[in-house]
Amino acid sequence: MKVLCSKCRKDYSQGTMGRCPSCDGILRPEYPDGAVRKLRDIIPGPGIDRYTGLFPLEGAVPCLGEGDTPLIGSRRIGPAMGLRRLCFKVEGCNPSGSFKDRGGALAAGLALERGLKGIITASSGNAAASISAYSAAAGLECLILMEPGSPPNKIRQTLATGATVIPVDGVFDHGPEAIGSLMLRLAEALDYYPALVWAPVNPYILEGVKTMSYEIVARLGKAPDLVICPVGGGDMLAGQWRGYLELKRAGLIDRLPRMIGVQSSSAPPLVEAFRSGSRRVKPLPYARSRISGINVPFTGEHALEAVRESGGMVLSIEDEEALALQQKVAFDEGLWIEPVSAVPLAGLKVLLERGGVEKDDLVVCIMSGAGFKDSNLAHSEAEEVSRRNPMPFDIEAIIAEAKALRAS
Ligand SMILES: [Zn+2]
Repeated sequence: MKVLCSKCRKDYSQGTMGRCPSCDGILRPEYPDGAVRKLRDIIPGPGIDRYTGLFPLEGAVPCLGEGDTPLIGSRRIGPAMGLRRLCFKVEGCNPSGSFKDRGGALAAGLALERGLKGIITASSGNAAASISAYSAAAGLECLILMEPGSPPNKIRQTLATGATVIPVDGVFDHGPEAIGSLMLRLAEALDYYPALVWAPVNPYILEGVKTMSYEIVARLGKAPDLVICPVGGGDMLAGQWRGYLELKRAGLIDRLPRMIGVQSSSAPPLVEAFRSGSRRVKPLPYARSRISGINVPFTGEHALEAVRESGGMVLSIEDEEALALQQKVAFDEGLWIEPVSAVPLAGLKVLLERGGVEKDDLVVCIMSGAGFKDSNLAHSEAEEVSRRNPMPFDIEAIIAEAKALRAS
């Protein structure tokens, strides 16, 4: 395996962190043809360790059964939009309830391989819960710098699996360089592995995310036409794109998908970079989205590169639209997802309005996390039900009550 700069193609030693020292480009691991060809023989299933030859480590990956998440055809929302082939990749079915587990498993493997004491990261919640869980599985310590205002369930989950959590004011507000150097210095001082999933700091962890593409292609027998992702730091989109490039190298697909990134109009760093035609993503002086997971002041350039290379685009949506679609997905499809997971569907609506989708296109929306992560739906109703006086154990009374509630 080599570590190459995506801009100047200079070769670096394995384990190099940060950006390319000579041109500031983004580093990415590249694997020999033989390793990539092995993709033809690997059968997807729970545990990303089956792809070990395509990861930047030689040691074991401590698995918790991550990956192998369902790819479900839309029953109602797709047909109502006039789309025949809309699918949802339900990443909430991962062990800690989000796609971050694909990177969390790899982070723990990398920390073990280097003989370090623990793992450190900064997170708005899902990466924290995941890295804490995999640290516990690997017998490692875990320190999380948490963005204030993270959903309580994500914090609870992180604490329950043993991490030390320190809320840090404006942890992401100082830009990628500042958080990157803070992470690296803290990691060195504590003898921890720096697992900030945003690639400009750690180019290795998002390699776990590409397993999503392997699974999608194994299931469909080809690449989708469009892959629509919510974009915060950008690793989900960029990681999947790398997966598709490898699948093409392995001869498993002959055509690549277009990668579509979606952000909130209240936190749109990638949208602005894409619209302006810039190569760099400028950090915003603000990020005010109500949607945990995409409320970011900056996005990695690797996501911008992936969107452009794929001929895709970046769209912005309103928070309210995504929250309404989160409810709709629950009612119409039976899937309880967190708000950020409905962001791709909101993006798909915008794309349809612009004529950017054909009715026969094979479209995959990535639903990044489970509903329990941010339990806004039915919150007050659940409280009310738990406080309500119970019905007597009587068939007539229960029928009368059921009919009355159905009518209301
Ligand atoms: Zn370079």
